[in-house]
Amino acid sequence: MKAMVLTRISDLRDDRNPLEMREVADPVPGEREVLLRVLACGVCHTELDEIEGRTPPPRLPIIPGHQAVGRIEETGGAGGRFKIGDRVGVAWVYSACGRCKFCRTGRENLCVDFRATGRDVDGGYAEYMTVSQDFAYAIPEVFSDIEAAPLLCAGAIGYRSLQLTGLRDGQRLGLTGFGASGHLVLLLVKHKFPKAKVFVFARAQKEREFARELGAVWTGDTDDASPEKLDAVIDTTPVWKPVVEALRNLDAGGRLVVNAIRKENVDQDYLLKLDYPVHLWMEKEIKSVANVTRADVSEFLKLAAEIPIRPEVEVYPLEEANRALLDIKERRIRGAKVLKV
Ligand SMILES: [Zn+2]
Ligand SMILES: [Zn+2]
Repeated sequence: MKAMVLTRISDLRDDRNPLEMREVADPVPGEREVLLRVLACGVCHTELDEIEGRTPPPRLPIIPGHQAVGRIEETGGAGGRFKIGDRVGVAWVYSACGRCKFCRTGRENLCVDFRATGRDVDGGYAEYMTVSQDFAYAIPEVFSDIEAAPLLCAGAIGYRSLQLTGLRDGQRLGLTGFGASGHLVLLLVKHKFPKAKVFVFARAQKEREFARELGAVWTGDTDDASPEKLDAVIDTTPVWKPVVEALRNLDAGGRLVVNAIRKENVDQDYLLKLDYPVHLWMEKEIKSVANVTRADVSEFLKLAAEIPIRPEVEVYPLEEANRALLDIKERRIRGAKVLKV
């Protein structure tokens, strides 16, 4: 099969084609696994973290991609939840131990032995991939392959982030950064909490315009003060300045949820601006988001189908995965980026 393969850790600014199109052996499904013919795979900022070494794959080469939609071609072993021809999705958590205190309480996202799709095992930037029946998700019919892909990570983690804010209807939510996840959160909030007000902080004028089109009541730059204090903020940026500025904009008792697998260290100095009375006092909270659980993905897909959420997508052919990644790196973003396989 053809696959876009990562062979080296490098900085995308110097090495603009870190993935190579290669002919590799077709994967073979193990016990309780299924073989998928991949139809589409979302491109995520986390792939930049893998390529640039902030969350490096433990072995190379590896096939990235953890928002894959495919049709089942083969089932390994006997029985299972799915049959040949079913359309399913694969998300970030490829497997977890199933025995630790986190796994036993539905928090496999925190399992220390979890394996990530497209980092620890081959992912969806390929014509075929395998997945465990226990970590595959039926894709609601209402979505095309392309539409479904970004729901599996950007959407599901946006859903988890929103749950973690504890937001209630009528409250004020801030979003710092407005990429794939942010735009899906905004669509979700408009449905779940129609009286909530959403304030969007983004560096790029285009992202701010896009946020207003989707119903943000106010948009500004990362270091602008919001016109009203916020009950919660979700940060989806790779840097620190928006974290400090979000804390300043939070109301007393407000919560900042940081949805980023790694922060780049380019502006770490900005943290020295933290001023306890301005940024933290009055019971402000900070909580990070780690991965997604199976329940998050299933609940979100169901909700997204009911609404239905139509993600804004930019489509690239599989062989142009490097261009999609560079567009994310250089912030040419409108909605989510998806590879058509
Ligand atoms: Zn992702
Ligand atoms: Zn576990």
